[in-house]
Amino acid sequence: MEKSRIEYYSTNLKAEKVSFSEALLKGLAPDGGLYMPTYIPLLSDKELEDIKASDNYSKIAYTVLRKFLSDEIGNEYLLHLCEDAYNFSVPLERVGSTNSFIMRLDQGPTASFKDFAARMMARLMNHFIEKKREHYTILTATSGDTGSAVASAFQGLDGIDVIILYPAEEVTDMQRKQMTTLTGNIKVIAINGKFDDCQRLVKKAFVDPTFSDRHLSSANSINIGRLLPQSVYYIYAWAKLAKKDEPIIFSVPSGNYGNLMGGIIGREMGLPVSKFIISTNANNGVPKYLASGIYRPIVPSINCISSAMNVGHPSNLARIIALYGGVMDEKGNISKEPDIESIRKDFIALSISDKETKETIKNVYNRYKTILEPHGAVAWKGLTDSIGTDQTDNQLMVSLETAHPFKFKEEIIKLLGLTPDIPMSLKGLDNKPEYFTNMENDYQALKDFIVKN
Ligand SMILES: *Cc1c(COP(=O)(O)O)cnc(C)c1O
Repeated sequence: MEKSRIEYYSTNLKAEKVSFSEALLKGLAPDGGLYMPTYIPLLSDKELEDIKASDNYSKIAYTVLRKFLSDEIGNEYLLHLCEDAYNFSVPLERVGSTNSFIMRLDQGPTASFKDFAARMMARLMNHFIEKKREHYTILTATSGDTGSAVASAFQGLDGIDVIILYPAEEVTDMQRKQMTTLTGNIKVIAINGKFDDCQRLVKKAFVDPTFSDRHLSSANSINIGRLLPQSVYYIYAWAKLAKKDEPIIFSVPSGNYGNLMGGIIGREMGLPVSKFIISTNANNGVPKYLASGIYRPIVPSINCISSAMNVGHPSNLARIIALYGGVMDEKGNISKEPDIESIRKDFIALSISDKETKETIKNVYNRYKTILEPHGAVAWKGLTDSIGTDQTDNQLMVSLETAHPFKFKEEIIKLLGLTPDIPMSLKGLDNKPEYFTNMENDYQALKDFIVKN
C-alpha cells in the first residue's frame, strides 16, 4: 500500500509544497494561489463498506478525514473532534414519490451548511496552534453565512482572534445579527461595498508584507481546511441512500464553489458520482465558461435573493481548473487550459434567475409541502431543469439545501404566506445588542484596523 505523505501545492505553482497543518494555518499560499492536495486518497472497498454500514455522521467524517490527516493528528483525537463538531442531524428528505432527495445541511448552530466546515476547521486550527503556542488572527470575508458559522465556531478560543468583513447592504438582518451579537475574540466590519470587495481586501492583507510576522489566516473556502470536511456529507448521503455501487447525482447551489469542491474531493476519493449539477444564480460566469470555453468574471457581481451566492468570480474555480490539468490565477486568467471536454462530461452548469427561484419556492411548496429557501431552490430548479425528476430510469439524485428557510423568512412569508418554524439556534437574537464597525471599501482602513486590534 502506498503511504506517502499528502502534501499541498499552490494552484499558482510558485510556492513551496506544505503539510496540511501549514496549509490550514496559512489559508492562502504565499504566491496568491490556493492549496490543493498533491493526490487525493482513495477510500478502500472495506472503508466504503464500513461507511455504508454506518449510520453515524461523526464516524463517517472520521473515516473520510483520517485519509488526509492521519500523518498529522492522532486517530483517537480526530474521532473525538468529529464527535464534538458533528452533534446535529443531517436530514435527507425524499421529494414526493421521486427518487430525488433534499439534503438539509441547516441543522448546525448557525443554520447553514457552513457549520460543517467551520466547526471542524476551528477545532483543527485550535489543535495545531496550541501545539505551536502562537497567536493567530483569522480574517474572513463573508456573503452572509460564513461569517456567522466562523464566529460561532471560533468564539471563545484562546489563541485566535477573528475579524469578519461583510458587505453592509447584502446580508439579511438575521445573518448580520448572528455575527454582530458575538463579542470577545470576534470583531465584525461592515464594508461599504460588495462581497467581492470584501474578498479582495482580505486577499490583499494576506500578501501584505506588513503582516508577515503576524499570523494571519483565513476561514474562507480559499482555505483547504474548509473543503475536506465538506466532502463528508456527500459521502454520507450516498451511504444512506444508494444501493451497493449505485451512482448518484448532486445539485449544488454554488457561489464561491467551496461546497462543490468538497463534493469533487468526495468523488475523487471513490464516491460514484455520475454528475454534479452546478446551480448558480444570475452570477453565471461558470455556466458561460462551460458553454463557450471562455471565462469572464461577472464584474460587479449581481445581487440576487440567494445572497450567499452573489459571487462574480468564484475563488475555487482555480482548484477545479487545477484538478482538470489547467492553471488559473486568482484574477481568473487561464494560463494553461484544462481538459474542458472532461469538465463538460462531469458537470452541468445552469444559471437560475430570481424569478425562477421564487416560482420554485412556490411550486415545491404547493406540490410537495416542502419549504426551500432561495439557495436550495436554485439547486432544485437546476436539478429539475437539467435532468428532471420524472425520468423513467429513476436515477438517484440529491439536491443540497444549504440554509434554514427561517434565515430567509421575509422572502418565504412574501411567497408562501407562512413563517417557517424557527430553529432553536436562531432564537433570542433580536434582543441582543449588536457590535460592529463601519468601513469604506479601502485597504488602508482595513490595515489600520488590523494593526489596532
Ligand atoms: C455560502 C453559501 C452558498 C454557496 O456556497 P459556496 O461554497 O460558496 O459555493 C450557498 N448557500 C448558502 C446558504 C451559503 O451560505
